[in-house]
Amino acid sequence: MKEILQKIIEIFLPPRCIKCGAILAQDGLCAECYNELNFISAPYCHKCGHPFEAQNTGKKMLCATCSKKKKTPFRYNRSALCYDEASKNLILALKFMDKTENAKVLAKWLNIAGKDIWKEGVDILVPIPLHYTRLVKRKYNQSALLAKELSKLCHVPVDYTSVIKHKATKPQVAFSGKERVQNVKGVFSVKHQDKIKGKRVVLIDDVMTTGSTLKECALAIKAAGAKSVDTLTVARVI
Ligand SMILES: [Zn+2]
Ligand SMILES: [Zn+2]
Repeated sequence: MKEILQKIIEIFLPPRCIKCGAILAQDGLCAECYNELNFISAPYCHKCGHPFEAQNTGKKMLCATCSKKKKTPFRYNRSALCYDEASKNLILALKFMDKTENAKVLAKWLNIAGKDIWKEGVDILVPIPLHYTRLVKRKYNQSALLAKELSKLCHVPVDYTSVIKHKATKPQVAFSGKERVQNVKGVFSVKHQDKIKGKRVVLIDDVMTTGSTLKECALAIKAAGAKSVDTLTVARVI
């Protein structure tokens, strides 16, 4: 019955490009919109995922910052796309315009971008939490939607409740550099430490800009005894 219903829906509501609305054979983007996107591909820094402009030799390489072995709470950082006009529109639509169906397509790309992380082994996905006042206003957490769809593909469970944002902050876009670090300082905490302790956690978010939000959240998770923290975002600012 469910399948018949699905078929009927498909006839009347064919899949459309999530960006321009063109009718497609399957969910996703039309060729034109797809070609506008800049996917991050090898070579990139094996640790922080920053793309290199060199030729891909297939070897694991580190960027200048990661070679210095500076202390970081992360194991790996990976993103599917460079943050630019094309990816920004897809993400903003998911975040603010109730285009929740975009999460399915974006999760497919997250799953591909996370291949090094899956290979290394993980236990749980944790979406970057929103403060409850923001959640009430926006009605959903875009990172939680991404984690939910990604979980269906990578078969890693999502923990929605152990990590919370206990303090409301102003949006990070209003700040730059050091102000961003200050704005999110100490705003995340772990509510159920037993569920985080000893776990290999993957933080899920839409965009990594300076990384200060992800870093602050990772520090709270590490302090709760997590074994490792990776980050997986749809896009990142290069
Ligand atoms: Zn399109
Ligand atoms: Zn690096």
